[in-house]
Amino acid sequence: MKEIEREKLYDLIIVGGGPCGLSASVYAGRSGIRTLMLEEYACGGQILNTFEIKNYPGFENISGPELASKMANQAEALNVEIKYEKAIDFDFSQDIKVIKTQNGKYFAKTVILSLGASPRKLGLEREKELTGKGVSYCAICDGGFFKGKRVAVVGGGNSAIEDLPYLTNLASKSYLINRSKRYRAQNILLEKALRLKEHGKVEFFEDTVVVKLLGDKKLEGVVMKNVLTGKEQELLIDGLFIEIGRIPNTDSLKGKVDLDEYGYIVTDQNLMTSVKGVFAGGDVIQKSLRQIVTAGSDGAICATNAQNFLNQNYKK
Ligand SMILES: Cc1cc2nc3c(=O)[nH]c(=O)nc-3n(C[C@H](O)[C@H](O)[C@H](O)COP(=O)(O)OP(=O)(O)OC[C@H]3O[C@@H](n4cnc5c(N)ncnc54)[C@H](O)[C@@H]3O)c2cc1C
Repeated sequence: MKEIEREKLYDLIIVGGGPCGLSASVYAGRSGIRTLMLEEYACGGQILNTFEIKNYPGFENISGPELASKMANQAEALNVEIKYEKAIDFDFSQDIKVIKTQNGKYFAKTVILSLGASPRKLGLEREKELTGKGVSYCAICDGGFFKGKRVAVVGGGNSAIEDLPYLTNLASKSYLINRSKRYRAQNILLEKALRLKEHGKVEFFEDTVVVKLLGDKKLEGVVMKNVLTGKEQELLIDGLFIEIGRIPNTDSLKGKVDLDEYGYIVTDQNLMTSVKGVFAGGDVIQKSLRQIVTAGSDGAICATNAQNFLNQNYKK
């Protein structure tokens, strides 16, 4: 490949600077391989929007931005080059992989895809402003802030129905808001939720959608609308957990690596994708628990296996 510019050829390029990419950077940096991390916005990914993290080992309570800055400082101190550029196209057809950003092309012997996922939003006015102030997309992360308070979960799939018993244990009163009478959750989860309903611990609003968020500096309630009758009613709550799915950031990867039906990257047990030398981890892959600690673990596995791949395929 004559077009390769040597100074733009890296042993490893990590795409995405969230917890997975930052953890991969630490492992890659410590192993001494020439590493570039490309991050579209700012290091930290989703944790930059998290006020308090209480489930990351070693920190009883730390803000997302503080944890992100600690992780980024650690990676930079290990000589990992960080460029704030968005990867817009990928060419994995040859041994040397090409990643295109708005500023040009970078070349890599191995790649880690850690582009993360974004929670699906309701699309309501002030949803962004009230996120972290009563509106949440992660019960396991934020549920603890609503002990003894009133909360509602929006959704009818596994995430929403699984969150319900967890939140009901913490909250003084909980509600489920589902846009129909159908549930996509597994029966075993649904049965548990229905038992809570029978015991009066949860109230269900079916055929119902949230049309407005109430509250000035923090969430104080919602306006719901029955989709069959059109009737609107207010519900006073402190927390609204929106669990209507996540969207993996894989639009630019369609046709480049294998994705599952929901757009998540499919990997093998070594976190290698369908392309040799291209690894993936964190929220962007098919997995059961999307958390900081699991993203960090994936980053470590990806970087270690990328290094093994380099040793096996590019030995001097
Ligand atoms: C509101 C909220 C609260 C949460 N609270 C907790 C908590 O308390 N505890 C916990 O363990 N987990 C929590 N989570 C989950 C946790 O944040 C994620 O599991 C974790 O951030 C996933 O890390 P990641 O590196 O895989 O992806 P992300 O954090 O999504 O990072 C991906 C990064 O890739 C970048 N990127 C994407 N596309 C490109 C591109 N084309 N080019 C360059 N860069 C790109 C993004 O800008 C982003 O920085 C929370 C999630 C949310 C939404």
